[in-house]
Amino acid sequence: MEALEERIRNCQKCPLGKLRTNAVPGAGSYEAKVMFVGEAPGYWEDQKGLPFVGRAGRLLDELLEEIGLERREVYITNIVKCRPPNNRDPTEEEIKACAPYLDRQIDILRPKVIVPLGRHSMTYILRKFGFEPAPISKIHGKTLETGTLFGKFVIMPSYHPAAALYKPPLREELQRDFQKLKALLG
Ligand code: SF4
Ligand code: URA
Repeated sequence: MEALEERIRNCQKCPLGKLRTNAVPGAGSYEAKVMFVGEAPGYWEDQKGLPFVGRAGRLLDELLEEIGLERREVYITNIVKCRPPNNRDPTEEEIKACAPYLDRQIDILRPKVIVPLGRHSMTYILRKFGFEPAPISKIHGKTLETGTLFGKFVIMPSYHPAAALYKPPLREELQRDFQKLKALLG
């Protein structure tokens, strides 16, 4: 994983490579049972080279704390590893160029639970494992069981924490989803 993270830090496979300050490969435990997948780095993530270190990240830390988890026990990454200018949505081409890194991270980590945060991440992860994407308001908090060569695991999509900053009622939905995550992890 360390070697892969280093490759990502030096990647120039798509035009975002030229625009970034730092690539954000992902961070956390290489033995994590749960992997969170956001969309793409924002301003602070690009500055620091670490995922979810801005306001949305603070909310993610609080959500983790409420279920007794620390950031260093989980693995946090994004579909796209370099910041799109002005935080625009990543393009199809950028996702296509970058997502093989996420695929490889999943293969290396072999998490028990993957939590896509937000619509873009949910869409990518569900399609990857052969599920039909659904509106995030319908599918958040649901558990989808699947498997690969390395065994069974569960996908449980949730809202993107940044969405709850703009729409406070979503915070409670996130808290409920995280309680489900806690139950899944036993
Ligand atoms: Fe490479 Fe991904 Fe960064 Fe594009 S966004 S340069 S594919 S690491
Ligand atoms: N939003 C994301 O999707 N990812 C980050 O790392 C930070 C904010």
